[in-house]
Amino acid sequence: MVYCSDCGCDRARRDFSTRQLKKEYPRCYVCTQGGDSSYGQETFAFECPECSKRFADANSLAQHRHTHRARSFPCPGCGELYRGMTDAAMHFESGSCNACRGKDAARRAAYDLVANQPGGSRFLTNPRMLTYDGQVGGGYSDSGHNYQCHACGKTFGQLSSFMQHTQNRPACRDGQHVNANLKLTHSTPQPERLRFFHGTTWAKACAIEQQGFVPSESGCLGRGTYVARQDKARRFAEMRSVQTGEPGRRS
Ligand SMILES: [Zn+2]
Ligand SMILES: [Zn+2]
Ligand SMILES: [Zn+2]
Ligand SMILES: [Zn+2]
Repeated sequence: MVYCSDCGCDRARRDFSTRQLKKEYPRCYVCTQGGDSSYGQETFAFECPECSKRFADANSLAQHRHTHRARSFPCPGCGELYRGMTDAAMHFESGSCNACRGKDAARRAAYDLVANQPGGSRFLTNPRMLTYDGQVGGGYSDSGHNYQCHACGKTFGQLSSFMQHTQNRPACRDGQHVNANLKLTHSTPQPERLRFFHGTTWAKACAIEQQGFVPSESGCLGRGTYVARQDKARRFAEMRSVQTGEPGRRS
């Protein structure tokens, strides 16, 4: 049996072909061939702490270390487990997920998943919203630029590319967590259906419950009833309850 004097392994005799050994354990290769065991220390300076494979650069090591991760991230559509949220999103957006067939449908569904989660609209380049004339503007676009990193401003066509970006750049990762662990409840997105909320005071909410909406005469935008997206309405309620001590309610 040939043991490597560098690490004590017997890889030269085990399951490794010469080519594989040379490529993946260059030091063991040289050592078991009778060469200098310090070979490769500089060239393959990046060692995996889990299996001691060596790599020439940090990127290759990072890619390799990914394979040691447990599959614990479910696809939001079919529930199959992946090694990371990016992998799950990549699978889903490829259009091959059984829960949502076809690239376009899947990418729209992924977009809706993000748009509908609390705070999700801040990851979107052009979130869907009511325009001044009552139309719906913004939303998913086929031409890309759907997601935006608000740390560096870069835009992305697909959720998986955006996730990959925040994963690879620590400066962009902070505070940007898209929750992809939500279960998709539908595979056919319904982009025109939005829920809007009316932010108001507790006392006025009670009056509205009794008398219905009465358009205001003195609102800052003039006569009318103002509605807001759910996240804005919630912030309004939270602000009010901090200012006035009234209970905050978000409907
Ligand atoms: Zn060795
Ligand atoms: Zn390893
Ligand atoms: Zn799936
Ligand atoms: Zn960024």
